[in-house]
Amino acid sequence: MMRTVFLWASENEWARRRLARLGFVRRAVSRFMPGEDLEDALTATAELNRAGLGTVLTLLGENVTKREDTAAVVGHYLAVIEAIHARTLDAEVSVKLTHLGLDLDASLAEANLVRIATRAAELGQDVAVDMEGSAYTQRTVDLYRQVRAAHANVGLCLQVYLRRTAADLESLAPLRPMIRLVKGAYAETPAIAFADKAEVDAEFRSLAQRLLRAAVPAAGSADRAAHPADSPRVVFGTHDRRLIDELARWASTEGIPPAAYEFHLLYGIGRDEQRRLRAAGHRVRVLISYGGAWFPWYMRRLAERPANVWFVVRSLFAR
Ligand SMILES: Cc1cc2nc3c(=O)[nH]c(=O)nc-3n(C[C@H](O)[C@H](O)[C@H](O)COP(=O)(O)OP(=O)(O)OC[C@H]3O[C@@H](n4cnc5c(N)ncnc54)[C@H](O)[C@@H]3O)c2cc1C
Repeated sequence: MMRTVFLWASENEWARRRLARLGFVRRAVSRFMPGEDLEDALTATAELNRAGLGTVLTLLGENVTKREDTAAVVGHYLAVIEAIHARTLDAEVSVKLTHLGLDLDASLAEANLVRIATRAAELGQDVAVDMEGSAYTQRTVDLYRQVRAAHANVGLCLQVYLRRTAADLESLAPLRPMIRLVKGAYAETPAIAFADKAEVDAEFRSLAQRLLRAAVPAAGSADRAAHPADSPRVVFGTHDRRLIDELARWASTEGIPPAAYEFHLLYGIGRDEQRRLRAAGHRVRVLISYGGAWFPWYMRRLAERPANVWFVVRSLFAR
């Protein structure tokens, strides 16, 4: 019920205009966001890097409706890529295609992604493409396929709650793509998405194992532990400690080294877990979202864990 309300609010303009202005809501969101400015995200990156954690930076915003606004988004990401390079930070960017103009014109979004990917490749960085609601899945996969053919440094997020994702993984496999597997954060119907948590978790496990088997040499082979440098990156975007531990254990019994996969978590969620994983020898990145357009994104974070509402309530009384 709470999840439905937050996911409704995430898409509601009336709720955004009223709630996003309230001081206590703004205070509560700061738990998940180091600040609205790029500088805040870069400062947080430097601090996380010192603890051995990389970051993924994403400017909040989606469903851009003006061509010139997409140009500003591209300009911003190009500046982020330069800043990462200039400050020798361990960071990369992740973008939403509707932020780059997918609602206006797929070829505009594609050209924008290519500009970002090209500069990132010149500076030795990867770029990830977020996955949005199911209205965009097919277009995102198609556009990704097109761009990935010429830009090996571009990865894609896939949501395991969608029944179609196993088939998407299969069809993308020949590209040897960098995939970030997540559970999925949008309101989807049972016709297209698993609704039950146990089913979503089982699908995550199964697709994660499939990705790892494809990314590293054949099971039992002596090369497996070596993990060739040109293997595609495999990313698990989750805070689910049980799932994380199960996957790490499974990989270890299969002889797949920790260098073959990464765990990515969101800024402000599972902070101890991020450090615990790093200390255990895993590759870990923290996804930092920043910017003024935080309302829909924050509503999705509340929907994932309604207990987060207590942070909002507590911030009502904080000064
Ligand atoms: C790096 C990264 C990138 C992502 N990219 C996308 C994307 O492109 N598209 C997309 O649809 N979704 C994306 N997501 C969100 C994802 O789909 C899930 O909605 C989200 O990660 C919650 O699921 P979970 O795997 O953490 O597991 P869950 O089973 O939901 O949670 C497991 C545990 O994690 C903790 N937890 C989970 N969420 C929260 C929260 N909001 N606040 C506090 N604790 C929490 C709780 O302790 C919970 O018990 C991304 C997530 C991550 C971590």
